[in-house]
Amino acid sequence: MSAILPGATLGVLGGGQLGRMFVHAAQRMGYFTAVLDPDADSPAGRVSHHHIHTDYTDVDGLARLAGLADAITTEFENVPAPSLEHLSVARPVWPAATSVAIAQDRIREKSHFVGCGVDCAPYAIIESAEHMAVPPNLLPGILKTARLGYDGKGQQRVGTREELAAAWNAMGGVPCVLEKLLPLDFECSVIVARGEDGQVVHFPPQRNLHRDGILAVTEVHAGNMAEAQARRAVDAAVAIAEGLGYVGVLCVEFFVLADGALVVNEMAPRPHNSGHWTIEACDISQFELQVRTLAGLPLNAPRQHSPALMLNLLGDLWFADAEASGGPRSSETAVEPRWADVLALPGTHLHLYGKTEARRGRKMGHLTITGESIDTVRSTADFAAALLGLPIPLSE
Ligand code: ATP
Ligand code: MG
Repeated sequence: MSAILPGATLGVLGGGQLGRMFVHAAQRMGYFTAVLDPDADSPAGRVSHHHIHTDYTDVDGLARLAGLADAITTEFENVPAPSLEHLSVARPVWPAATSVAIAQDRIREKSHFVGCGVDCAPYAIIESAEHMAVPPNLLPGILKTARLGYDGKGQQRVGTREELAAAWNAMGGVPCVLEKLLPLDFECSVIVARGEDGQVVHFPPQRNLHRDGILAVTEVHAGNMAEAQARRAVDAAVAIAEGLGYVGVLCVEFFVLADGALVVNEMAPRPHNSGHWTIEACDISQFELQVRTLAGLPLNAPRQHSPALMLNLLGDLWFADAEASGGPRSSETAVEPRWADVLALPGTHLHLYGKTEARRGRKMGHLTITGESIDTVRSTADFAAALLGLPIPLSE
């Protein structure tokens, strides 16, 4: 396969913030871009050369995308895999629909992990009323819908078989998995990129803190986890990508348990929120690797040149002042956070995704902090968090 060189057009299905940062990386390298998203005002659509406003399954919209773009990727985990399959008849599409379809279904995803020899949490498939008789060692557990969950949505903690049955009914009796609730020491993720020629590169493992099921903080520096553990996580992520014959950027999320064991949680067939720090702290970002894998360009092992910490900026920040002054939670008006004060701190890099409406729990942007040492980075992050009304300490 010959490379698709700058000057060509790269397409992306989905117009969210991940698509926006992909578009930025592609345009910097001299590509034209085309975004397909049903929202006329999507974060990626606003910055792309071409923006097709149709549904992801609209045959005319897909044909227009294939007509404009020389190769097509996706940024949106729940993009209909059949649309990718459809596009792949006309154009190179990476990641492949088959990989995306596995990542979209927790049941298929877990059996892929097991097939690659990587441990996941003990689980049972819940697809019918007979499946409520789960082995007692899976309780307490977390019931997760097999499809369409994200940011902790489509999940319910259950302590007994009765609670399991009630939660499964409340979820509409759709296919689910019940996972044993594990004692987590911390969470981490590894991003790998694999080319069509089989070359694989990776970023160092990211240490992640979630709040309310949503990523809140990512920290990456030498020593953020034991070396042997980090190596195991990278090896597992590479094995998972190779097992899929994956082409593109893949993020694999892990749990590190209280006893040091490493357990895979899930994978995302695209760049990931926990990899946004790579834009400022590495010589090649996850989005540039997405461009390179899509265009069939050579990959280079990314080099982290600065310790980094990323704070997710959720819509809640726009209401933090009102809350601090005892104002009402529901009817308050949004107030712009103190960006100028945050940007006065050395090493802060602000990303806002251009979403017009701030809503609680909505990912509005992120702040990456770089510095000479992780201590400097952390103290800057504490100042930034205080200015923004985020909880401190940042780590738990
Ligand atoms: P996203 O796709 O946004 O990462 P999600 O909705 O797919 O999230 P998961 O990653 O499955 O959800 O779970 C969200 C969080 O819930 C995890 O990051 C972890 O903090 C916690 N969690 C999930 N499964 C378990 C488990 N088996 N034991 C303990 N904690 C868990
Ligand atoms: Mg997750």
